[in-house]
Amino acid sequence: MGLLYLGTPLSWDQAKPHADAIREHGITQFLNIWHRLKDRQGDELLWGDEVEYMVVSFDHDAGAARLSLRQTDILAKLAQLVNDICIESSAKLTDMPTFHPEYGRFMLESTPGSPYTGSLPDLLSVEKSMRYRRTLARSHLKPNEVPITLPVFPRLGVPGVFTDPYYDPANAKASHSLFLPDEITNPHVRFPTITANTRERRGSKVAMNLPLFFDTNTPRPFIDPTIPWDRNIYKEDPEAKNGAALPDHIYMDAMGFGMGCSCLQITFQACNIAEARRVYDALVPIGPIMLALTAASPAWRGYLSDVDCRWNVIAGSVDDRTEEERGIKPLSENKYVIPKSRYDSVDSYISTDWINRPEYNDNPLPIDEKTYQRLRDNGLDDLLAKHIAHLFIRDPLIVFSETLDWNDETSSDHFEVYALLQGIQSTNWQTLRFKPPPAGSPIGWRVEFRSMEISLTDFENAAFSIFIVLLSRAILSFGLNFYVPMSKVDANMQRAQKRNAAREGTFFFRKSVFPVGSERRYTTTAPVTPPDLPNGCGPSINKENKLRNCYPEVPPPADPEKLRVPIEEEYEEMTIDEIINGKGNDFPGLLGLVHAYLNSLDVDFPIKRKLRKYLALIEQRADGTLMTAATWQREFIRSHPDYKFDSVVSESINYDLLKAADEIERGLRPAPGFLPSHYTGTEEDTGEPGP
Ligand code: ADP
Ligand code: MG
Ligand code: MG
Ligand code: MG
Ligand code: MG
Ligand code: MG
Repeated sequence: MGLLYLGTPLSWDQAKPHADAIREHGITQFLNIWHRLKDRQGDELLWGDEVEYMVVSFDHDAGAARLSLRQTDILAKLAQLVNDICIESSAKLTDMPTFHPEYGRFMLESTPGSPYTGSLPDLLSVEKSMRYRRTLARSHLKPNEVPITLPVFPRLGVPGVFTDPYYDPANAKASHSLFLPDEITNPHVRFPTITANTRERRGSKVAMNLPLFFDTNTPRPFIDPTIPWDRNIYKEDPEAKNGAALPDHIYMDAMGFGMGCSCLQITFQACNIAEARRVYDALVPIGPIMLALTAASPAWRGYLSDVDCRWNVIAGSVDDRTEEERGIKPLSENKYVIPKSRYDSVDSYISTDWINRPEYNDNPLPIDEKTYQRLRDNGLDDLLAKHIAHLFIRDPLIVFSETLDWNDETSSDHFEVYALLQGIQSTNWQTLRFKPPPAGSPIGWRVEFRSMEISLTDFENAAFSIFIVLLSRAILSFGLNFYVPMSKVDANMQRAQKRNAAREGTFFFRKSVFPVGSERRYTTTAPVTPPDLPNGCGPSINKENKLRNCYPEVPPPADPEKLRVPIEEEYEEMTIDEIINGKGNDFPGLLGLVHAYLNSLDVDFPIKRKLRKYLALIEQRADGTLMTAATWQREFIRSHPDYKFDSVVSESINYDLLKAADEIERGLRPAPGFLPSHYTGTEEDTGEPGP
């Protein structure tokens, strides 16, 4: 969530003429940062998570669960509470967790007060921080309201009542949705404006069609009886019957369906820009793997779908491309055919490391030529210039008249706002985000990992966060190489979302991940001696029992071309179990790499034992001992006494599902096969190893 300007937002027609000027200022601001900070060195590892919640309002008498739309009140109360705690306990405000607004008026986001450091005990404070935040939120809701961390509310957009209070979608002036009232959206002008401007720029409503899960009694073909096919309020109403709504699918027509989904994001700071680019690239192929492993989104608009993840819905929900840009009509008004939504998987690798072969960037990459040239003229290399010039093919969707009056020296707002224009959360909405330092702040170059779904419990959310940060250290420490062609990463993104992909799917993954012809070798036993550090970087943090930054690039071997094999021989198809837990003698799996990295540190045994508990969750989700949250929800729904095997998630099923989710989270209800048996819903228990 970025800055929420108070200002006068421009409609799409008013904003459009400013697009080029904003692009230009955005680049000026980026270049100011670039010239000042491109050689910045020695930033330590700092990292943090973002956890998103939906607030569910239970009506226990009616047996109904609805989305509470009290975001504004709740956030005000939480801000006040955080202030009061500081006054009472003399804690620093910067150490207190923060709660942020999100797109959905039923959503909250929380982040730790200050980022975690590389200290090993900090790894064990992640769950504590997440639990503290949840407790703060929960204790300031109404008694019937609960913050729940599942990505999707299964009955968002059904006919009748699904919010508290009820609003009629007939009044959806920004989205023109057949299903969602505008009151589902954060009331800050930014959100309705971006909703309306997306629709106007695109020339129609967004349209997402998820394949329906056909159960034994589901009618075939399935023509959705809950779509108001003949509504006639907004000019886009006939789109559904004119082909936007596909048979045998669950049709959704508004930004709220995607931007109302919750996820888990991890940001970490790199030692310098080169290291940020290396970690960014290495994590690109990990994006779809972690999406499959955290899958938690099986039910949509009252139906079971044949997918387990949120990604395609969220990508489609902000797809502002015109018909020309989508390649449906020949180009005339627009400049580019654009293969993907502004919310989607990363389009290009950006590291200048020698292991990044040009052939890996095999996706079409439309770029803004003027931007590219200007960046090159200012000393940017081809890969980074293309990355940014590709982001800048998008038009700014939200422009405030006040901010057209800019100062490029002191502000990075237009670069940030620019990224923000592509998103509401000051991001560029891809699986990874390369985050330049904000102007005038002590923050360094950062990378954000964004593909994961939110998990039901903070034990799981902490486990996935810890796993990713440790994996990022293993990548740097061992000089790992995860490159596969970008088109294969995209194929994996689609495979990751299929029902039960974590158990049954296969994914393109690199066979040999170790550096070739280098002194830096991966080892499972002897501690790795850190190589000499470049000037400006801190001392080896291994000796201090810390996760560190500042691993230099693995130098190229004498004759790299000789060592290269054809790209197609570099990767093969593996299951999630193989990718995480290893395959054969040569590939130890991502978890094997993480364990090897931990072995290279001098980790105190109690810390190691606690970490093992988190890592065991990853292992067991991957090897099938434990099911994903998507499978758990599917099984709950399909074994509910009211389920008619017709794919319908009724109000009573939804109520019981969310009630069960809450009880499981609090440790009041066992969830065998989904959570480990030691899970009791308290941090004390989940942090300690079981028998
Ligand atoms: P976004 O722009 O993605 O919404 P947020 O501000 O919500 O970002 O969250 C950013 C995360 O990055 C938080 O968890 C925060 O603790 C963490 N963070 C803050 N400063 C740094 C830093 N210097 N390096 C790495 N992470 C940081
Ligand atoms: Mg967010
Ligand atoms: Mg955020
Ligand atoms: Mg932010
Ligand atoms: Mg974020
Ligand atoms: Mg196994």
